[in-house]
Amino acid sequence: MRETWLTLDTAALRHNVAVIRRQMPQARLLAMVKADAYGHGAAMLAPLLAEQADALGTAFIDEALALREQGVRSPIAVLEGVFTTQELALARQHDLQLAVHSPEQLALFAQAPAGAQIAVWLKVNSGMNRLGLRPVEALKAWRVLAQSPAVKTRGLLTHFATADELDSRQTVQQLGRFRALQQALAEADGVPVSDSLANSAAIFAHAAAAGAWMRPGIALYGSSPFAHRSAESLGLRPVMTLRSRVIAVHTVPAGEAVGYGASWVAARDTRIAVVAIGYGDGYPRHAPSGTPVLINGQRCQLAGRVSMDMITVDLGQVTARPGDPVVLWGDGLPADEVASAAGTISYELFCRLTPRVQRHLLADEILNG
Ligand SMILES: *Cc1c(COP(=O)(O)O)cnc(C)c1O
Repeated sequence: MRETWLTLDTAALRHNVAVIRRQMPQARLLAMVKADAYGHGAAMLAPLLAEQADALGTAFIDEALALREQGVRSPIAVLEGVFTTQELALARQHDLQLAVHSPEQLALFAQAPAGAQIAVWLKVNSGMNRLGLRPVEALKAWRVLAQSPAVKTRGLLTHFATADELDSRQTVQQLGRFRALQQALAEADGVPVSDSLANSAAIFAHAAAAGAWMRPGIALYGSSPFAHRSAESLGLRPVMTLRSRVIAVHTVPAGEAVGYGASWVAARDTRIAVVAIGYGDGYPRHAPSGTPVLINGQRCQLAGRVSMDMITVDLGQVTARPGDPVVLWGDGLPADEVASAAGTISYELFCRLTPRVQRHLLADEILNG
């Protein structure tokens, strides 16, 4: 049987939750599980995250409904909201919190029937210019929502464009706009306004962005949201380890090339290991020769192009035989390093894993015992 699989370390996940909570101890934790829990497998991790976090966050309603179907009962926020009255009805039926980010979504609520008791997050465009109402429109929308019979509670939400850059002027500016709006609304209402601002980067870099709710994604899974700070330096541990095995070892004489396009040429007689993973599994095809790979726990380098089902690795001084274990990223090799070599971010590596990769949960008991 072809052995290419990933393990999910639940102890690491618990650990990361604790590290994140220490960063913003006053904030409640809305764990982002969109895109199948960042490719990790929501079905496997959602029960644990539901227990560890105060709420879960998805992008679309379908993702939230799948969690409900799976038996997740904790609060779930749908951060891109709903787009039709049918979806609004479903959200109510399944007790989903909804973001409202556009005039169209606001109109859905203005016309909603009485009794649809939905918790709403008004999304403010504080400067990222992706989703959200500008502060002036948000001010009006806040009142519309107050009058909608469909709304149970209101919160104010925004998202940062550059929270991963230290000393970012844009983040300070976004924060200023958001806080000004929040204060105006609170003064008008005579009560504080619940807020949510911080993604993983802001949780570690912008204490002023702490609010009632933080929304970490990548940090939960143990990768760094920063280009120049390692996950380890943030105290995070990788949840996912992507694994495979060596299926062949051979010596390539100096001067001969390896793989499609003959792009890598052996400078000297070279021991090459063939590993049973490729872009058909989601290993990035753009990973260049030199990308790190762990064989028998030791660092080796990718040599030649990534194929659909295989990669070829320069063993250097490492000895290996068919059947030996390989780690593509995770335990012992940060996904951030592989991502950086491949010109992308760990988020994308995780999300691109295909169903061909089997997912296995490492329960805490197994790990500790
Ligand atoms: C994905 C997402 C997050 C989490 O971002 P990370 O960088 O993974 O922490 C938070 N908020 C919103 C609105 C998102 O879409």
